[in-house]
Amino acid sequence: MAESKKFDLLVHGGTLVVPGVGTFPADVGISKGQIVAVGDDLGPAEDILDARGKLVLPGIFDPHTHIGNERSFEEEAETETRAAILGGVTTIGIFLRSLKDSYFDHLPAFRAAMDTRSYVDSVFHPQIFTPEQIKEIPGYSEEFGIRSFKFYMSGMPGIVNSITDDLLLEGFRTVAGLGPDAIACVHCETGALVDQARNSLKERKPEGTLADWAEAHPPEAEALAIQTALYLAKIANAHLYVVHVSSRDGLNMVRRARREGVRITAETMTPYLSLDSSDENGFLVKMVPPIRAKEHGDALWAGLAEGTINTLGTDNTSRTRGTKQPGAGLHGARPGYPVLGTHLPSMLHFGRLRGVPLEMMIDAATRAPAKVYGIYPQKGTISIGSDADLVVVDPDLERVVRAEDLNGMSDFSPFEGKTLRGWPIATIKAGEIIARDGRIIAPANGRYLPRKPTGHAPILPWLSGAQYAS
Ligand SMILES: [Zn+2]
Repeated sequence: MAESKKFDLLVHGGTLVVPGVGTFPADVGISKGQIVAVGDDLGPAEDILDARGKLVLPGIFDPHTHIGNERSFEEEAETETRAAILGGVTTIGIFLRSLKDSYFDHLPAFRAAMDTRSYVDSVFHPQIFTPEQIKEIPGYSEEFGIRSFKFYMSGMPGIVNSITDDLLLEGFRTVAGLGPDAIACVHCETGALVDQARNSLKERKPEGTLADWAEAHPPEAEALAIQTALYLAKIANAHLYVVHVSSRDGLNMVRRARREGVRITAETMTPYLSLDSSDENGFLVKMVPPIRAKEHGDALWAGLAEGTINTLGTDNTSRTRGTKQPGAGLHGARPGYPVLGTHLPSMLHFGRLRGVPLEMMIDAATRAPAKVYGIYPQKGTISIGSDADLVVVDPDLERVVRAEDLNGMSDFSPFEGKTLRGWPIATIKAGEIIARDGRIIAPANGRYLPRKPTGHAPILPWLSGAQYAS
């Protein structure tokens, strides 16, 4: 056998799950960080990973994470991506936060952190709060390869600010001006309805339970904001990406928009699909938007199965018990939780209980977001020429979730104490086996991924037939 036929790594004997292609047994040959062969009886390799009886998935791309909300960006770039890679996540989208300053002041440091300390690859979505930042959007694109930006229609007291509809429209126009591949992500909640609901809840229920928290962010606030954002996105001819759809009402608004043929992509989070507001972990599960009553989770699963929901992420916002303050109760406990490490296992576990086809879930967690954010087929599939980012899963492995095993900075998980079935046994990143049997076994090799304008809209089934303003 010629030396050139030799692979650096051969993933042998597994069942591949390739979105849009199918589920089939095959080996994967890897050289120099890329997939170079998929098939049977592939040649010799320096190293062989035995995947017999296991599933081999594309590395998971979680398009929605927050890094550095509690500790420094640099520190969390390491600790939280360590939890990610152990959980099978190999690429993340990070919602950057700079409430006032220009992102030009921070982007070099953010990028350096993701190039030197991260276990996973990353793309950035700066969160836009000021008119000055809107003006700089073209510069962020040109200098840092950023093609997606996020706007908050309703902020969170002490965490992020909201922007008014005039700035939202201006932001949409600026993003659309970057080209048809650029994405406007929006946190859709109508601020006045949230403020009213929060104040009313404080008066009526100074103390209460996790279930009461859902009243602070009523579903109608989400649905109404989606409608407003849709209308403005249509005027601006922007591709609207609704982050973290959390309610049946929000989902129904997305359904209506699809019938009207608007360019809209809808995302939900695995915690919304896995937990409900009766959870025994109480305020450890507190989030914005809230985890709601079971009927909303049921609706979101149906939305995923029918294709109204397109992408799956986490909204990971790591905290410790010390800052989460579950003991501070309904109004005092802070939103946010670490969920990168449980993203894939919770999807596999609850998806199986619901009978949702595995390939459909994996598509929403890999190929679909990779296409939306312009990194497909480098990411999001198993094919020749793609980055060798793979996760090998034992679909029958059961583990009880414990924060210390997840290996991030947090000392809790909203899934704490729950048994999930289906866990990664190995995660390969850029051709290296980084995680094995729940342990990190190699140095971090994550990279920031600058994106270039593609010149065309992402080719997505749910946008075929969508109208573009002329
Ligand atoms: Zn978020």
